[in-house]
Amino acid sequence: IAHHHPDLISLSTFRRWMLERKLQDAEVPAEEQNNILKHLEKKETEYMRLQRHKMGVEDFELLTIIGRGAFGEVRLCREKTSKSVYAMKKLKKSEMLRRGQVEHVKAERNLLAEVDSAYIVKLYYSFQDDEFLYLIMEYLPGGDMMTLLMRKDTLTEDEAKFYIAETVLAIESIHKHNYIHRDIKPDNLLLDLSGHLKLSDFGLCKPLDSSNFPNLNEPDYTPGKGAKPLPDNTSRLTNSSAPKRTQQEQLSHWQKNRRMLAYSTVGTPDYIAPEVLLKKGYGMECDWWSLGAIMYEMLVGYPPFYSEDPMSTCRKIVNWRSHLKFPEEAKLSSETKDLISKLLCNVEQRLGTKGAHEIKAHTWFRGVQWEKLYQMKAAFIPEVNGELDTQNFEKFEE
Ligand code: ADP
Ligand code: MG
Repeated sequence: IAHHHPDLISLSTFRRWMLERKLQDAEVPAEEQNNILKHLEKKETEYMRLQRHKMGVEDFELLTIIGRGAFGEVRLCREKTSKSVYAMKKLKKSEMLRRGQVEHVKAERNLLAEVDSAYIVKLYYSFQDDEFLYLIMEYLPGGDMMTLLMRKDTLTEDEAKFYIAETVLAIESIHKHNYIHRDIKPDNLLLDLSGHLKLSDFGLCKPLDSSNFPNLNEPDYTPGKGAKPLPDNTSRLTNSSAPKRTQQEQLSHWQKNRRMLAYSTVGTPDYIAPEVLLKKGYGMECDWWSLGAIMYEMLVGYPPFYSEDPMSTCRKIVNWRSHLKFPEEAKLSSETKDLISKLLCNVEQRLGTKGAHEIKAHTWFRGVQWEKLYQMKAAFIPEVNGELDTQNFEKFEE
């Protein structure tokens, strides 16, 4: 091994030496010391195996397409030597260059590789060729939340509670690593074999590409100080010229448009926080806004600011005060409305601004056993027959 990577060996020896010293200082029991060192050894061996063999797309057998996005596609694949099944996300470099996203993607890749959480999709390898970047991830056969929501119309409060609680834990775990997702939406919430939720799609945030969305940051759009009332033709459209839609009508309209929106290069803006759209500078709180929008969609059937076209949705979001409404037909409990309103609001008032514990403590989550959540039975157990089953995904043309 030393022939291959002298630097690596000395580094690993050094790291081991440091760790041994630290463990002695900390008076860790001998048995535990041993376990820690063994774990480290295993990691190093794995790392060196990867260093020796440069992975490439030819190491994989390409199977069914399970997703398609702005930069490329996601497919089921099988590593030829180990026979292990993975999801391969392929990103077109020229497209990413054009949108100035390369550095972004690199940073996210590193982060994804570092964060080891039950609530985050695991990244196994990444490599590139002349045309594409490849991310080899664990395959989550339960499908995504967008597909689940389209099949179910709405969820019961208990079902929503399960997924929203798991999303809280997922968001909390990336925030702990000082990372903001910024693109939390149902398409990026994936379900594993047992129906538990994992977050994916880090930092390839299409909607944040400033060229895609209208500039909402003009004086008229800035709430507060001396700004004129917002030129809000969306409310004019829905309030006077067109009769107001019932919840059912809005639902079927949304479902007709949903996939188209998801696969468009712009992506759907429905879950983006106003401060992100206004490009004001934003922090981790923006992910909690998205959580509120998803919770609303789960219980009502469509997201809170849904509109005919993405531009109007953006306008409604920045004018959320006059557009956030709870349809009577949805019969939401007052606790539900309270939590949603404390997520879909100004940054200063938003729950979660001081940490996820603020959200977890809300009465809507009463009875949720946060520490055991992942070991509990999921709200729905996906049907999956065999490791290559893709029935929980849409069919895509080759
Ligand atoms: P995009 O940047 O195009 O949104 P995503 O990473 O969100 O790319 O992937 C698009 C879709 O592909 C997801 O909504 C999901 O349906 C599917 N997908 C992505 N990663 C996985 C995975 N690891 N396992 C199963 N399905 C996945
Ligand atoms: Mg996505």
